[in-house]
Amino acid sequence: MTELQKIVLYNSLTRKKEELIPINPDFVTFYSCGQTVYEDVHVGNAKTFIVWDMLARILRYLGYQVKHIQNFTDVGHLTDDADLGEDKIEKRARLLKEHPMELVDRKINEYNVDMDDININRPDLAPRATGHLTEMIDLVQTLIENGHAYQSDGSVYFDITSFPDYGKMARLDLENLKAGARIKVIEGKKNPGDFALWIKAPKYHIMQYSSPWSKGYPGWHLECSVMSMKYLGETIDIHSGGIDHIPVHHTNEIAQSEGATGKKFSNFWLHSEFITLNGEKMSKSTGNFVSLRELIDEIGRGPTRFALSQAHYRTQADFSLKQGKAARKRYYRLVRSYHRALQEITLNKSDTKTIAEPPDKILELFKKAITDDINTPRAFAQINSAAKRMDQVRKEGNVGMLGYYMNLFETMMDVLGVPFTKLSEKEIIQVDYMLKMREQLRSENRLKESDGIRSYLQFQGYLVEDQVEGLPIWYKSEV
Ligand code: AMP
Ligand code: ZN
Repeated sequence: MTELQKIVLYNSLTRKKEELIPINPDFVTFYSCGQTVYEDVHVGNAKTFIVWDMLARILRYLGYQVKHIQNFTDVGHLTDDADLGEDKIEKRARLLKEHPMELVDRKINEYNVDMDDININRPDLAPRATGHLTEMIDLVQTLIENGHAYQSDGSVYFDITSFPDYGKMARLDLENLKAGARIKVIEGKKNPGDFALWIKAPKYHIMQYSSPWSKGYPGWHLECSVMSMKYLGETIDIHSGGIDHIPVHHTNEIAQSEGATGKKFSNFWLHSEFITLNGEKMSKSTGNFVSLRELIDEIGRGPTRFALSQAHYRTQADFSLKQGKAARKRYYRLVRSYHRALQEITLNKSDTKTIAEPPDKILELFKKAITDDINTPRAFAQINSAAKRMDQVRKEGNVGMLGYYMNLFETMMDVLGVPFTKLSEKEIIQVDYMLKMREQLRSENRLKESDGIRSYLQFQGYLVEDQVEGLPIWYKSEV
């Protein structure tokens, strides 16, 4: 096994960058809060899921084994964080006149297609909340027994005053919470800031399940505590989610998990910043969003992944299609350099020289960037440098060095999970042959036939750039 390399990550618990020291030295347990499945995945969701995929890839590249769990929320996520409002899934299903579980199934399928398209590895497990009701009920029972929760008219609430560290990560003001500042008061709660573990369902509610307290449904936060503990253990290395999860969802996960076990729930808490649209948070529930599918249709799969990975994950970014298109240009500039290098290697095999020493610090700087809290802007700068060096050594005819930079480019793109089309030897030879034939036809002024070749190649996804002198430059886009 290669030696494990260190990584520092920004921990929301301590508000500092800290070195990750896994509970088991070479094995990282990692839980990310997943999608609430009632609407299309939007560009903001996708950016957040890309970050967690990148982190898992980076950790594996550094030599760690990673167990990555990411759930699907299919019950209990209400339209209002203060335990009011409707279940988001049930509300949408009613509008569509279908059973909530039909909607959930369809959205999970679409989610998987979307994630596959932007090269997000499937997590090791993607459990659903409704599959873990028994464990959720058990956890609530434990919390009632040890004095952290109480029953009130069929619902069960967590008593935030029973947990002195409540709201520590979010630096919430407990006195304010107790007094109910800015919170709508719900009858039956001891403190306005208490949160629901189990909610008694009204008769018309479709998603209701039996429990010792009432027919009802679980509070949203319960599922992540239960699934994280069930599959990864009572204390894990990393728990992650969007920045919106700090004050409510993750605060409540910590209280109920640690209240039940008496152990620290997660050593690291990672949060990704919002993508905004027209300055407002991109959000499924308000409809202020661009779907991931729309962006993929507009600029392609590889460019979409590339575009959404550019900014650092803790920087808020406003989305615009103009930026997406600019990112597509930059992406194809990289692909173009790589494809030209591949053509050179394939068509001029004879000239290979091998190199002993890496000629520069690109890989070292790339590793520094990814291990410094997933610094993607700096990591992509190194990919750009490798592409430039590829162009340079190709022009110099140094095929050995070219091989080195191509390898480096492939490695770095794979670590960040950016997909790119590779060219087979056969297609390089074929396209090269066709372009030479086109030159011949052009020199004989047989323009209709030569244009036909160009159109055919374009149709197959090859982009051909004619030059003032010599053969055209070509590369392949996604098809
Ligand atoms: P949800 O389905 O609303 O629970 O969201 C799924 C994931 O996407 C969660 O981790 C959210 O925190 C995250 N998320 C939601 N909206 C945004 C946004 N505008 N930008 C970045 N991440 C987001
Ligand atoms: Zn969660």
